[in-house]
Amino acid sequence: MKTTEQFLSNLRNLGVNLRTEGNELRCQAPKGALTSDLRTELAERKSEILSFLQKAASCKQGASFQDSAGILQYSEDQQEFRERLRTFLKKEVTPCADQWEKEGIVPKSVWKKMGQEGFLCTGVSSEYGGLGGDFRYSVIVAEEMSRTNHTGLALTLHSDIVVPYIEDYASEELKRKYLPGCVSGEIVTAVAITEPGAGSDIFGISTSADEQGETVIINGSKTLISNGINADLVVLAAQNPYAEEKSLSLSLYLVEAGTPGFEKGDRLKKMGMHSQDTAELFFSDCRIPKANRLGEKGAGFCMLMEKLQQERLTCVITAVAMAERILETTLAHLKQEVPVSGGSLSNSQAVRFAIAEMATEIRLGRAFLEKLVIDHAEKRNVVTEISMAKYWTAEMAKRVADRCLDIFGNTGILEECPIVRTWRDVRAIPIFAGTSEIMKNIIAESILSFKS
Ligand SMILES: Cc1cc2nc3c(=O)[nH]c(=O)nc-3n(C[C@H](O)[C@H](O)[C@H](O)COP(=O)(O)OP(=O)(O)OC[C@H]3O[C@@H](n4cnc5c(N)ncnc54)[C@H](O)[C@@H]3O)c2cc1C
Repeated sequence: MKTTEQFLSNLRNLGVNLRTEGNELRCQAPKGALTSDLRTELAERKSEILSFLQKAASCKQGASFQDSAGILQYSEDQQEFRERLRTFLKKEVTPCADQWEKEGIVPKSVWKKMGQEGFLCTGVSSEYGGLGGDFRYSVIVAEEMSRTNHTGLALTLHSDIVVPYIEDYASEELKRKYLPGCVSGEIVTAVAITEPGAGSDIFGISTSADEQGETVIINGSKTLISNGINADLVVLAAQNPYAEEKSLSLSLYLVEAGTPGFEKGDRLKKMGMHSQDTAELFFSDCRIPKANRLGEKGAGFCMLMEKLQQERLTCVITAVAMAERILETTLAHLKQEVPVSGGSLSNSQAVRFAIAEMATEIRLGRAFLEKLVIDHAEKRNVVTEISMAKYWTAEMAKRVADRCLDIFGNTGILEECPIVRTWRDVRAIPIFAGTSEIMKNIIAESILSFKS
């Protein structure tokens, strides 16, 4: 049976509008939209729908900019998971963030602790040690991580971006070999696509994978690889040097750290995300078994495209959560009644309007995000909408960070300012996982081809 949320979403798609009036359920539907089966189901599930809508409405009435928009609902298990994770992060992660920012990396021991607590790879099936949870668990992890004031412990990258390639495309043997370690935190993963000459244009990839018999020989280099230093296992995109058709030239391979011919470069010094170990990777006659290929030879481009929807959605979650946190911190600052000429800062019309505008934008971002999470969890193709959300929320978070920093005045440029780290960190969101310009290209392409 469909969940309440799925059932309501189906009705919405048919143009059916349901609302509550006291304890009554009111329904407006276009002619012919409600079949007799749907009418029966609606009548049978009336009390369940009523309570769902009432709960969502009460959530909306008292809403502040940082509450759920009331679109996405969490089960009791998920709420308990969030509480447990929040408590763990407060104790084990947030207090270490400053130190990790200085060191430019997080210790691997914390990955293992997260794994022991069941916070890694929540989507991986229980067969391989995971929770087998739906995408809401990933949303919870991404949101709670954004409260830790650092980005080094890249759980979302590991659990929701890299590991899904293994779970969905690796052979059974590779899954049994690697997935339990990914879940326990023994294995930290990275995905290596970008090269010095190939970022937005992945067909510019020149790292070669020459399949000879049962061996693959890899040559080339990658740059800006997150978890680059800590990674034990890398999903590598490389091209077949003999391929004639570009779209069939890319394949994905699993390469273990320590394989002869695979070297990690130094940690790259970045303007933000300091605790994130971003590095170059070098491959020189690096030999791996052909069995380490994910999926069919030449299917790399399709696999990358298929997984980008989830990757970009995780960026949207992070962008919205970071914007919320920045505004929340700025409001706490304003509540201290910062004196300025003519009264307190929070009474200044310029500041009040800025706060109102930012809260509105964040709310819009959250509502869009929650809708997309539901669509994604229900396996709809929402590539265009996620591209819209990726570019808009990334730019929105950047705007919010900038305006809030101004509100802090001269404190805003001091390292001790509580939002300065996030101000730096949000700057990368419009760049990774597809730049804002590339998102706009996807949106325009989709809209224009739809019209013609
Ligand atoms: C913090 C961080 C972490 C990262 N982690 C990883 C990782 O783990 N793995 C990985 O593989 N990569 C990673 N990347 C790389 C990231 O995915 C690339 O930076 C991104 O794809 C953009 O590529 P580029 O930097 O080569 O820019 P380019 O593609 O060279 O683009 C330069 C500029 O030109 C614009 N542009 C390019 N093409 C077009 C076009 N067709 N139309 C209009 N404008 C265009 C871009 O929008 C941009 O403004 C990371 C990047 C950052 C910043």
